[in-house]
Amino acid sequence: MKVLVAIKRVVDANVKVRVKADGSGVDLANVKMSINPFDEIAVEEAVRLKEQGVASEVVAVSCGPAACQETLRTAMAIGADRGVLIETDAVLEPLAVAKLLKALIDKEAPQLVILGKQAIDDDCNQTGQMLAALTARPQATFASKLEIAEGKACVTREIDGGLETVQLALPAIVTTDLRLNEPRYATLPNIMKAKKKPLDTTTPAQLGVDVAPRLTTLKTAEPAGRAAGVKVPDVATLVAKLKNEAKVI
Ligand code: AMP
Repeated sequence: MKVLVAIKRVVDANVKVRVKADGSGVDLANVKMSINPFDEIAVEEAVRLKEQGVASEVVAVSCGPAACQETLRTAMAIGADRGVLIETDAVLEPLAVAKLLKALIDKEAPQLVILGKQAIDDDCNQTGQMLAALTARPQATFASKLEIAEGKACVTREIDGGLETVQLALPAIVTTDLRLNEPRYATLPNIMKAKKKPLDTTTPAQLGVDVAPRLTTLKTAEPAGRAAGVKVPDVATLVAKLKNEAKVI
């Protein structure tokens, strides 16, 4: 069984992002970039399936600029067998990524595609769902457990107030939630080995996909700063303020 894992290069989770002065977006100059955390979980899950003898090959795919090669090498250091870069400098919206992934799925025919539930930069939470619609494959989003048996995927999903278990016929699309697994650290020997693994490059044009944006960003703004607190002399004043000023009681 071939498993395709979609990985996005995003601003590192520990970076405090700055909005550009003209409000057109987030400043990415000299900012540390990393593999999207949910995609790291997706790679780990695919590699575990391979270690269990369930998957035969794990292919990592990233859409974006040439620098995504580094992200693909990270996925290969975790254990992916090879990488595919769909190279473009265009700004990619989830629909464009879903179309690119569909075009690659048509060529690679994976039985299972694992994506992150969301990219931590745009927080869209759309690509997996759009990909399922475009490929007419069953989907299970927010997976916290994944088991493959007899041509089916059994997925436990994190939903409001509990867990839901669904069974999907393969080929299928799964998106990862935080509790699915804890990704391993890539060891130095595996980082070195990853440098020699195959990495193919293609382009949206070669895949016949139009990635022109459908959305326009009107404005990006920093969250409003918090107002300073005040000290109150006694409980009576606090209650009065909560009642009359904050109007929360
Ligand atoms: P989003 O819908 O943007 O929140 O992204 C959800 C998931 O889609 C991510 O966790 C990735 O697995 C995948 N994805 C989004 N953008 C890309 C990209 N440029 N390249 C590869 N995978 C992506």
